[in-house]
Amino acid sequence: MRHQQPDKAFSPRRRALLTAGAATGLLSVVPAGQLWAKQRTSARILIIGAGAAGLATANRLQRSLAGARITLVGARQPHLYQPGFTLVASGLWDRQQVITDTRDWIPGGVRWVEADAVAFDPQARQVALSNGASEAYDVLIIATGCQLNYADIDGMTPELIGQNGIGSVYASPAAAEATNNQIEQLIARGEGRAIFTLPPTAIKCAGAPLKMTFTTLNRLEDTGRRDQFDVNFFTPFSQKVFSVPVYNEFVLNRWQQQGVNLHDNCTLTGIEPENRTAYFSRENGETVREDFDFIHVVPPMSAPDAVRQSELAWQDGSWAGQWLEVDQYSLQHRRFPEIFGIGDVIGTPFGKTAASVKKQAPVLEENILSYLAGRPLEARYNGYTSCPLITRIGQAVLAEFGYGGELLPSFPFIDPTEESWAVWVMKEKMLQPAYYAMLNGRV
Ligand SMILES: Cc1cc2nc3c(=O)[nH]c(=O)nc-3n(C[C@H](O)[C@H](O)[C@H](O)COP(=O)(O)OP(=O)(O)OC[C@H]3O[C@@H](n4cnc5c(N)ncnc54)[C@H](O)[C@@H]3O)c2cc1C
Repeated sequence: MRHQQPDKAFSPRRRALLTAGAATGLLSVVPAGQLWAKQRTSARILIIGAGAAGLATANRLQRSLAGARITLVGARQPHLYQPGFTLVASGLWDRQQVITDTRDWIPGGVRWVEADAVAFDPQARQVALSNGASEAYDVLIIATGCQLNYADIDGMTPELIGQNGIGSVYASPAAAEATNNQIEQLIARGEGRAIFTLPPTAIKCAGAPLKMTFTTLNRLEDTGRRDQFDVNFFTPFSQKVFSVPVYNEFVLNRWQQQGVNLHDNCTLTGIEPENRTAYFSRENGETVREDFDFIHVVPPMSAPDAVRQSELAWQDGSWAGQWLEVDQYSLQHRRFPEIFGIGDVIGTPFGKTAASVKKQAPVLEENILSYLAGRPLEARYNGYTSCPLITRIGQAVLAEFGYGGELLPSFPFIDPTEESWAVWVMKEKMLQPAYYAMLNGRV
């Protein structure tokens, strides 16, 4: 257990990042700095998960509340800038560019407990931790992100990434780098069969599996021997690789032009690394065997076990036992009013991107302030989700949408359905400082 030193909040490194973020914020840049008095409370506020959503929330609440006892729980020491993973796996960034220290983002006055939550007792308002301790709370915020369920694919473990043609951008910066190495080996062979996959569950950054397909295609085209490579995309759905129709059609049309073979209704169920063989189940229960020289594995995802096996998960419907049950607009738990959720862990129709966290964080802050003051919860999250969909190196489409698949463009000068170099520059150069400003609770 460690107490953050107050002067950490003003380290030169953080100040520089903050300034850069404010100057080049990718999305709307509305300062979160409070111009009004802090709200007084003596509440114990417990935040579980010290990733993008947990850190943004801790910074915001620390700034807007006086007297609160805020504790942030999370064992992971490095902070990972996950939107950069696709750039690492495409050979464009070094993996060190996506790693910072979690400690650098924790505001002074917030207590950090370097352990994970293992069980929730919402009746007793207690959370049991991996270090054997437990924490009591008045307000609980769940921000644990996604769990990557590689084990749901027979024979697959994250350790296999980087061997026998197996890649997966999701697991870690090292896995992203190893994925790039496997793609480089495919290119060096001068021919071969590449397979890209999608799981049947909700996933974080649903554009990432498509981006990996696009950047790899681009690299194969650049060899001048594209016809020597057989490129395949396996989807568990029918003619669907993305849930918003306009982007789905865009991608499918482009892949048709680029000679990608689309395999419908196929879910990856098993892998034999030494044989470079994958197994897919089809809708009719049949299993098909597919050989590969390179495969991009996207694991099924859920809330972490501690959340999905607790009373806090959805009890009915397609998210039952998988994702945190919250009201999709207020982000308050639907059965335990003192519990809130933010980030990838929540069971809502959309919202599993860092850009979603940026829109959710002010909603969550306002509603927690209202909850503590006994006022009605009026702030609403509209499902905003955004992802610069890289279509080739140097080009991207800025996909921005919300509940109901409604397009929610932020910039009048960017057509939300057209690819451009400007969106690529946003992804490659501007998103990271904007993300770091978000962690600081500044935008
Ligand atoms: C390959 C890839 C590409 C992406 N591209 C984009 C993009 O272009 N644009 C975009 O906006 N977003 C993108 N994202 C998504 C974005 O990174 C996530 O949506 C964002 O990080 C969500 O924040 P979070 O805090 O919910 O989860 P995370 O940032 O993952 O943080 C969750 C934290 O909770 C911790 N935790 C887990 N279990 C427990 C537990 N039991 N107890 C305590 N702590 C726990 C974890 O260790 C972690 O520190 C991408 C993600 C990936 C993987």
